[in-house]
Amino acid sequence: MQVQDRLFIGGEWVAPSGPDTFDVVSPATEEVIARVAEPTPADVDKAVAAARTAFDEGPWPRLDPAERVAAVRRLAALYKPGRAELASIITAEMGAPISFAKLGHVTIPMFMMNAFAGIAENLAWEEKRPGFYGQDILVRKEPVGVVGAIVPWNMPMHLTIGKLIPALLAGCSVVLKPSPETPLDAYWLAGLLERAEIPPGVVSILAAGREVGEYLVSHPGVDKVSFTGSTAAGRKVAAACGANLKRVSLELGGKSAAVVLDDADPAAMAKGVEVAGLMNSGQACVAQTRVLVPRSRYAEYVDALAAMVESLPTGDPTDPATEIGPLVAQRQQERVRGYIEVGQKEGARLVAGGADLPAGVDRGWYVRPTLFADVDSSMRIAQEEIFGPVLSVIPYADEAEALRIADATEYGLSGSVWTADVERGLDVARRVRSGTFGVNEAYSMDPAAPFGGVKASGIGRELGREGIEGFLDSKSISIAATR
Ligand code: NAD
Repeated sequence: MQVQDRLFIGGEWVAPSGPDTFDVVSPATEEVIARVAEPTPADVDKAVAAARTAFDEGPWPRLDPAERVAAVRRLAALYKPGRAELASIITAEMGAPISFAKLGHVTIPMFMMNAFAGIAENLAWEEKRPGFYGQDILVRKEPVGVVGAIVPWNMPMHLTIGKLIPALLAGCSVVLKPSPETPLDAYWLAGLLERAEIPPGVVSILAAGREVGEYLVSHPGVDKVSFTGSTAAGRKVAAACGANLKRVSLELGGKSAAVVLDDADPAAMAKGVEVAGLMNSGQACVAQTRVLVPRSRYAEYVDALAAMVESLPTGDPTDPATEIGPLVAQRQQERVRGYIEVGQKEGARLVAGGADLPAGVDRGWYVRPTLFADVDSSMRIAQEEIFGPVLSVIPYADEAEALRIADATEYGLSGSVWTADVERGLDVARRVRSGTFGVNEAYSMDPAAPFGGVKASGIGRELGREGIEGFLDSKSISIAATR
């Protein structure tokens, strides 16, 4: 069992100020795999003080942006050879199937680091504009300050990199709070920061639960909160930030739709929905768990989806063939099985999977990949984020109805359209209210493209140039015209 008895504060591994620890439990074996120091509010005070000093007095925000780009590139180079180790850590702590962990959890974040570095290299950090009244205007991009970054357990490194790297490139200092389910990957990253010559205090990492998160969000030393998590928690974070007029960005929940048009190839669509709806064992904010299918070819599409769901290898997440691993925690397993029962009670037709445990499983928090058909958009399984491997097929009569159903939840994060006609697909993509969308692909979260939600899926954008701009303020300097 790993013992992580130090916190990463101000560039050093320090003992926590309290005696408590928490356990990290393997979702596959239910065994304790690590015991981790529990930070207290006093530790948050220390981390914020270190971040304040680094920001108010240190070199980091004052460096030429090219030097911060170089530091991020050093970090990416140090990260690269550790990828296999990191993938094993993430599979152990949150149960991600190892093949998906290697790519989605570990390698894509490395691409993101390099992509962000390239974007920062080409950003207009200072721009001169002719003033309306004859003077010159200098518009400078300046870092927003100390950032409190809070990430959930489902894509821990991916979401960490999506906040940390743009914040660093902007010149901010960061106090990162990973979830208690997934502290180990974050502390692994901490070990690289000093070697990348990122100055002490610029990054502190305290893995902890909600109370420490609440304390960090309300801390007067924090200038901006960058939050990823549930919509319920996001509302509280927004309220706390509003009370202190703190900048805040929120990446929240989703209930996205895959819209299948009547010219889509059934097998290709089902293959796409496998990724779009069930990646990471269904624990993805962007999961497209509502599959909207035309009544004219309903049976054909339901059959293709059922065959896909039934074919998914489910089990040991360390097996490279596994597509669906365990869910992160017992409470999550209970929640998802509860939703499967709710769907049956609501009158949806269970086509594949179900609330019983997968065959041969005697431990671990598994749920069978499950497909419901004949789902009505008003049912709870069609409205609420389940966060597990459960898909709902909702029939529609015509495109207008498909668009109405696609928008008929409180969320607006992701989505896709499946069609033989890209123009037809683009027409649908333009009309659905959502922050991101894919045409004949699960939305790919390309690092060049801004990512985020509308409606209850959040406020603000990560990734792309917009992802860095979220950590920048614009300062306008007016220079009197010389006569
Ligand atoms: P959660 O909201 O319970 O917790 C997320 C993080 O916030 C954790 O680190 C938690 O400790 C912390 N937290 C919880 N309440 C807080 C509060 N009041 N103040 C400060 N911090 C608080 O969510 P979860 O169950 O860990 O994660 C799953 C949720 O995250 C899903 O709803 C999913 O859709 C969402 N998510 C969104 C995105 C996105 O980019 N939009 C990405 C991944 C996950």
